[in-house]
Amino acid sequence: MAKYIFITGGVVSSLGKGVAAAGCGALLQSRGYSVHARKFDPYLNIDPGTMSPFQHGEVYVTRDGYETDLDLGYYERFLGAKLSRHDSVSGGRIYWDVLNAERRGDYLGATVQMIPHVSNKIKEYIAAPSDTDFVVCEIGGTVGDIEGKIFLESIRQFANDVGRKNVMFVHLTLAPYLEKSGELKTKPTQMSVRQLLENGIQADMLVVRTPRMLMPDERDKIGMFCNLPAKNVISGIDVDNIYKIPLAYEAQHVFDIIANHFGLPQARGDMTRFERIENYLGADLPTVTIGMVGKYFDVPDAYKSLNEALFHAGIQNNVHVNIKKIDAEKFSPDACHDVDGILVPGGFGVRGVDGKIEAAKYARENNVPYMGICLGMQVAVIEFARNVLGIQDANSTEFAKTCTPVIDIMHDHDTENMGGTLRLGAYPCDIASGTLAATIYGTEKISERHRHRYEMDIKMESAFRDAGLIISGRSPDGKLPEIVEIKNHPFFIAGQFHPEFQSSPYSGHPMFNAFINAAYKKHG
Ligand code: GLN
Repeated sequence: MAKYIFITGGVVSSLGKGVAAAGCGALLQSRGYSVHARKFDPYLNIDPGTMSPFQHGEVYVTRDGYETDLDLGYYERFLGAKLSRHDSVSGGRIYWDVLNAERRGDYLGATVQMIPHVSNKIKEYIAAPSDTDFVVCEIGGTVGDIEGKIFLESIRQFANDVGRKNVMFVHLTLAPYLEKSGELKTKPTQMSVRQLLENGIQADMLVVRTPRMLMPDERDKIGMFCNLPAKNVISGIDVDNIYKIPLAYEAQHVFDIIANHFGLPQARGDMTRFERIENYLGADLPTVTIGMVGKYFDVPDAYKSLNEALFHAGIQNNVHVNIKKIDAEKFSPDACHDVDGILVPGGFGVRGVDGKIEAAKYARENNVPYMGICLGMQVAVIEFARNVLGIQDANSTEFAKTCTPVIDIMHDHDTENMGGTLRLGAYPCDIASGTLAATIYGTEKISERHRHRYEMDIKMESAFRDAGLIISGRSPDGKLPEIVEIKNHPFFIAGQFHPEFQSSPYSGHPMFNAFINAAYKKHG
């Protein structure tokens, strides 16, 4: 059976539980342990896919096509964990399951209660097999939230079921600094830990978010009030880049605390992958500028995975990447004069599409490296049809009625894995040899994640090919174009999928790596 680390938070929300969980997981991995991650969100929405991206940032898509919030992305990137719909569980989904079971008669007419029916359902999700040595489980929300109570009760029971030695409770709190008295205040932490204790949970380690490192006397005081050794009280100071967290934890011997708790042998960790990132961040390197032509810039984290993927590709290419946000609705070619590459990300709806089409045109005509993602591929196809093939009304049926729908809803493809009408999750793609895509991926069979409704219509392939736009990746049945590229251009490639969801800070992603490389070449 896997051992479990539960991460809870108190005092305020947004303390970075996901990053803390990933940081603990990374330390375990650095000692050769395998780690899986799960997230429990007490809110009542049944799944995060339908929540407003204006409140929650980007919609992250798992391999199995579950639309979830961006925290799952942290786990996949940081830990290389392979997460599925069973690893992102909301309160709404738990109640939905329980109430449906009740309707089916599964409870044989028994009185259905929070305990045991809801708590058992939560424990079922927690205990789902994982094939790893450890599972880090983040419990969303803040201790004291009404929705969260039953989740705390369930992890308390779970620890009792599987044995306290197999479960570690890590709690995040905040120690505010009072300028006037020059003091770091520990009382909110004490109260938060006490509140956790009211739910029957004794924290085994505290990560105290503070503006500076805790002093020994402050750790002693917190340890004394909170019922744990002072050495298990860690300072969670702000870092300018989340990949510095594992090194910050390592310096505070967090692995030793975890090892002590679970009775693991002491071991030195291999932290080279994080040291490499830290060195990169501090290095004086050339900077390439990527113009990102999008429309969700007011929403924090709307392009989270994309920003990450560009950052990862910078590490691989030893250059810093500066992202210039270009508002698609106000696009003018002037905005591109100082960029080394143009990226058009995914998007929905007609707003801003004209600017994105203009951006693709600019990149094509001026030999600027171009990478299109999902909608970014569709606009590249529309642009090419209009301005190279001369089909003035070429369009996507998403945006207008047209006699030449180069992008359309394809009703005849496999709908097995489609949530609603979106094509969601990982799909295989065959790459044609001798293409830029083949060089980039170095393999003929790839799998990438999708989230879109519309597709390029393959019927016009030969017209496009003859004019220089080729389909270099397609679905194995040959019906759906997945990658297009333009010949006789230094670098112009676009995918119907979202490669950013599979980018890793340790190796980047082939398409982004190649894009940044091309931008660097252009930069000179
Ligand atoms: N709106 C387009 C579609 O639905 C593109 C979606 C996207 O970029 N993710 O096909």
